[in-house]
Amino acid sequence: MCETVIPFGDALSQGYAGVLSIDLTALRHNYHLLQATAPDASMAAVVKADAYGLGAARVAQTLYDAGCRDFFVALVTEAVALRPTLPTDAHVYVLNGLLPGAEALAVEHDLIPVLNSLEQVARWSATAQQAGRPLTAVVQVDTGMSRLGMQPDQLRTLAAEPERLRGIEITHLMSHLACADEPEHPANADQLTVMAEMSALFPHLPVSFANSGGAFLGQAYHKALIRPGIALYGGAPSTDGNPMRPVVTLHVAVIQTREVPTGTRIGYGGTVVADRPLRLATLSAGYADGLPRALSNHAGVWWQGIRLPFIGRVSMDSIIINISALPDGALNPGDVVELLGPHQSIDDLASAAGTISYEILTALRSRYYRHYVEA
Ligand SMILES: *Cc1c(COP(=O)(O)O)cnc(C)c1O
Repeated sequence: MCETVIPFGDALSQGYAGVLSIDLTALRHNYHLLQATAPDASMAAVVKADAYGLGAARVAQTLYDAGCRDFFVALVTEAVALRPTLPTDAHVYVLNGLLPGAEALAVEHDLIPVLNSLEQVARWSATAQQAGRPLTAVVQVDTGMSRLGMQPDQLRTLAAEPERLRGIEITHLMSHLACADEPEHPANADQLTVMAEMSALFPHLPVSFANSGGAFLGQAYHKALIRPGIALYGGAPSTDGNPMRPVVTLHVAVIQTREVPTGTRIGYGGTVVADRPLRLATLSAGYADGLPRALSNHAGVWWQGIRLPFIGRVSMDSIIINISALPDGALNPGDVVELLGPHQSIDDLASAAGTISYEILTALRSRYYRHYVEA
């Protein structure tokens, strides 16, 4: 990642104690890298959950400028917020489908619902007939995840009774891979086989199948439209390694330092007792800022190339670190340390917490000063 000047002064003077920096150049790079990985497919961006916590409007605009025209969110409310931020030739899809009553909003905002059941097909068809014009939709089939989409039998019903689709213009037949981040998992090929059968029922329809992991499973998985999320944001698409460029850095300020003698309890529950005199620093971020309590005594931060371990439990708004490795007088209130950056990736922090990069990213919420880096 290129060196950028992170505006710590601005953040601290506005009362923030941490800076979440989002590199839009790296985002664009990842977009093009994914496109090169699936050169025959068109490419959508998954920007649900506020673009995995990075800001859906800003992320979507950047990707639109890079050529992306298809954007997936999870909820109608997310789509309604995103739609007016994008030019009208962008398409906004709603992955979680259409709950009863949401049809009017979907029509008004020109959304493309992912229809996950015959019942949703029936409601969208009725809505189209009332509107007196065709309405677009994606049809999702469950090829082996048991989460969302029609069962194969229901899709066969739909193929046999095409009048159920009256008024609906289907843009894509879609399914989602459950194990794409594990390239050797046999479920991938199983789902691909079911997808081929389902696709044969609607031979004229373009297919959307691959998420980030799927994009790296080879051309058979790419189909017409890939739908990556995490890889755009720098997370590892699979257990095979991470070719993506990091997008996020996180720095947090020290708010107090102290020296404690042998025998001093440290943090909630006194889970650590100093076994020698220690120097400690307290950071202004905690589990309410997306740093899981499971990181207690497990993770660290970096400062001038030195790792400083968490000591004691992660609190709601603060974390204590052991700075005894530093020379006397180093690291003072107002200095900032690296939580995510060149020394520690989102995948590193996730594995220290026993979770995945997706959960780390989506939890980095509002209490950081957000800084977007443009080339
Ligand atoms: C979240 C999601 C994606 C994106 O998945 P990544 O693993 O982040 O690339 C794609 N498709 C569906 C249906 C999803 O729910």
